Amino acid sequence: MGEKIIPLADHRYAAAVPAVPSRLTAPTGLLADRLGRPLHDLRISVTDRCNFRCSYCMPKEVFDKNYAFLPHASLLSFEEITRLARLFVAHGVEKLRLTGGEPLLRKNLETLIGMLSALRTPDGRALDLTLTTNGSLLARKAAALKAAGLQRVTVSLDALDDTIFRRMNDVDFPVAEVLEGIDEARRVGLGPIKVNMVVKRGTNDHEIVPMARFFREQFDGQVVLRFIEYMDVGATNGWRMDEVLPSAEVVQRLQAAFPLEPLEPNAVGETAQRWRYADGAGEVGVISSVTQAFCRDCNRARLSTEGKLFLCLFAERGHDLRALLRGGWDDAQIATAMADIWQGRGDRYSELRGQQAAESGSGQRRVEMHYIGG
Ligand code: SAM
Ligand code: SF4
Ligand code: SF4
Repeated sequence: MGEKIIPLADHRYAAAVPAVPSRLTAPTGLLADRLGRPLHDLRISVTDRCNFRCSYCMPKEVFDKNYAFLPHASLLSFEEITRLARLFVAHGVEKLRLTGGEPLLRKNLETLIGMLSALRTPDGRALDLTLTTNGSLLARKAAALKAAGLQRVTVSLDALDDTIFRRMNDVDFPVAEVLEGIDEARRVGLGPIKVNMVVKRGTNDHEIVPMARFFREQFDGQVVLRFIEYMDVGATNGWRMDEVLPSAEVVQRLQAAFPLEPLEPNAVGETAQRWRYADGAGEVGVISSVTQAFCRDCNRARLSTEGKLFLCLFAERGHDLRALLRGGWDDAQIATAMADIWQGRGDRYSELRGQQAAESGSGQRRVEMHYIGG
C-alpha cells in the first residue's frame, strides 16, 4: 500500500519567524508603526473552518471536501491565544475581536472568552471584547457567550430574501435562523449589535433598502446595519471591480428612501462612516474599503488561526508568533519581537490598490479572509 500524503496545510502561507532582539524593551502601551499608527485593535481567528461557503470568501469550488483545513495541532491553544493577547494588551491593544472562519465552530469557545475577558489594560480597564459571526449558531450559543464575558456581537447577513440568502451562503442556510440568532443576542444583552452586509452589484444590491427598512423597524433602532464594499481579499473569489457597489451609491439609494444625516466617527481608526436616520430611527453605516481607503488610521493587527501575525488584511506574509511561543521564548522576548514587528509596519494596501493592481496584475499571492478573519 502506498503512503498517504497529507498536504502541509500549515505551510500554505508564507511566514517569517521573527527575530528576537538581544536587547529587551518593556512594553509602554505606546507603540507606533512607520506611519505613526498605534496598535489598538487585534482580530483573532479561532478557526479556518466554516459551515457557509459565501462565494466572496470560501467559494465551494475551492473549499470542497478535498480542501486541507489546518490540523488541530496547528491551531493556537486557548492558553497560547491568551498569552499573546496579554502581550498585545501590554502594547496598547484595547479591543479584541474573535473571528474566523466561523468562530462559533471552535469547540468550547466560551472558555476562551472567559480567559480573554479577565485581561485588563495596563491602567486596569476591561477590554472591548467582541466577535464576528455568520449567526447560524447564535440562537443556541448567545446566552453562554454572554455569561462567559462576551460584550457584543457583529453578525454578517447579506440578504433578507431567503432565496438570495441561501444562494449567497451556498449551503442553503435559511435566513430565519440568522434572524433568530440576532434576536436572541439582543435578548441576552450582547449589544449594541452590528449587522454587516457585503454588497455585490447584481447579486444582492436590491436588498439594500429592504435590509435598512427591516433593521430600522424590527429592533427599535438598536441594531446598526453596515454596508461593506465587496473586497479583493484572497485569490480565490474572482473579484471584479464592476461587482463593487461604491458606498456613495449605497448612501444615495438609502437617502432616496430615508433621509440621512452624517454622524461623527466614534473613534479614530473606525472603519465605518456613520449616518443617522433623520426621523430618529437609529443609525446606519458604510464601510468603503475599496473606494475610500482608511489605511491612514488603520490600527488593526490580525492573528491567524495558527498564530501568524498579519499587519494588513492584504499582507502577503505573516510573522510566525507560534514559533516563538513553542520555541521556548519568554514573555519579555516575545513582547520585544512583537514591538519590532509593529514598528516596522508600513502597510497601506487599500491606498495603493490602484497602483499595485497595475504593477503586479492579478497573480499576487494573498492571504484568504477565512484564514485571518475580516
Ligand atoms: N464567518 C464569520 C462571518 O461571516 O461573520 C466571521 C469571519 S468572515 C471572514 C468576517 C467578515 O468578512 C464577514 O462580515 C464577511 O462578510 C466579510 N468578508 C468576507 N469576504 C469578504 C469580501 N471579499 N469582501 C468584503 N467582506 C468580506
Ligand atoms: Fe464563512 Fe464568514 Fe467566509 Fe461566509 S464570510 S464563508 S460565513 S467565514
Ligand atoms: Fe489596514 Fe491594510 Fe485595510 Fe489599509 S488595507 S485599512 S492597512 S488592513
